[in-house]
Amino acid sequence: MELEKNISIKNYNSFKVDHKIKKFYKIQSKEEINEIRNYLPKDEKIIILGGGSNILFTKDFDGSILYNNILGKEIIKETKNNIYIKFGAGENWDKSVEFCVKNKWYGIENLSLIPGSVGAAPIQNIGAYGTEIKDYIYEVTGINLLNGKSEIYKNKSCDFSYRNSVFKEKLKNILFITHVTIKLSKIKKFNISYNEVKQYFRNMNSNDITLNNIRKKIIEIRESKLPNPKILGNCGSFFKNPTIDSQSFNNLKKKYPDIVGYKNSNKIKISAAWLIEKCGWKGYKKNNVGVFKNHALVLVNYCSNDGEKILKLSEKIKNSVIEKFNITLEKEVNIF
Ligand SMILES: Cc1cc2nc3c(=O)[nH]c(=O)nc-3n(C[C@H](O)[C@H](O)[C@H](O)COP(=O)(O)OP(=O)(O)OC[C@H]3O[C@@H](n4cnc5c(N)ncnc54)[C@H](O)[C@@H]3O)c2cc1C
Repeated sequence: MELEKNISIKNYNSFKVDHKIKKFYKIQSKEEINEIRNYLPKDEKIIILGGGSNILFTKDFDGSILYNNILGKEIIKETKNNIYIKFGAGENWDKSVEFCVKNKWYGIENLSLIPGSVGAAPIQNIGAYGTEIKDYIYEVTGINLLNGKSEIYKNKSCDFSYRNSVFKEKLKNILFITHVTIKLSKIKKFNISYNEVKQYFRNMNSNDITLNNIRKKIIEIRESKLPNPKILGNCGSFFKNPTIDSQSFNNLKKKYPDIVGYKNSNKIKISAAWLIEKCGWKGYKKNNVGVFKNHALVLVNYCSNDGEKILKLSEKIKNSVIEKFNITLEKEVNIF
């Protein structure tokens, strides 16, 4: 295990903010987690970190960061129709999707190009283009940092919901996820329900609808819409899309006929980007932070080292949405 002291977090977060970290451990195996547990003080503050693409640091941290670098992948089971692949949680998510697509295993291709690690994928139940990882998680394995024991969470125990799970709630910074087992289909099946994807494949010969072509299309759409964090610091969507009751939605629809809503059990999910744009924030830029010009849900860091500025901007946005629509936005990004 590697330990670095008093380092900057800048190269480990996609917002590219610069705060100081007292101790930074690079973990290569699950055994190392217990080694560290045994000599850290009992009251040590801990943050578990993957690719840093869904966390905003707003201040220096005088505790220990446990950076997950547990690698490897292994097929643990194969049936006529399915394949079960156990990934080390430190594997890069998109490289793992690419690996599955190359092997013609169906299911997670719509989640191409999401930044970050495999271990963080179940945490907020990553989702995009009509697919959520909850439908492909077989089990999640980790070490409980409170007692050092290994724990396995089968899909049903993960309490998955929209951008949430047990790992983002009561097990946050308690369960160090070391491995994620994904169950994919060997039988051809695609999800091209998302409008832009559907339009693209509509007039194509069915032979051209392949895993590889879907992955390529998803990457193309994402690259045209979202800022590349290597060039412009961001964490993707800053807020979750809120759900409201049908009565409130109908009232809004009368006032704003262009509002779009999707039925979500007995409620309506509306676009947080639309709400933020209506409040006039799209393209906003001040004090080196702002709101992306092509997507109002993406807060961007032009060149500030201070994450607190991004947090303050997010509070202003949240308040303006409450004032105009009486809707409270919930953060998707983890704040430290
Ligand atoms: C340009 C861009 C586009 C994005 N698009 C999407 C999208 O389409 N859909 C989507 O859902 N998300 C999206 N995201 C958000 C992000 O990529 C995902 O949430 C991703 O899964 C985060 O992975 P990470 O390894 O970077 O996690 P980190 O940011 O390192 O961590 C996120 C949280 O998980 C915890 N954590 C990380 N690893 C572990 C572990 N091994 N064990 C326990 N806890 C851990 C951390 O403590 C933190 O609370 C996007 C981000 C960016 C920058």
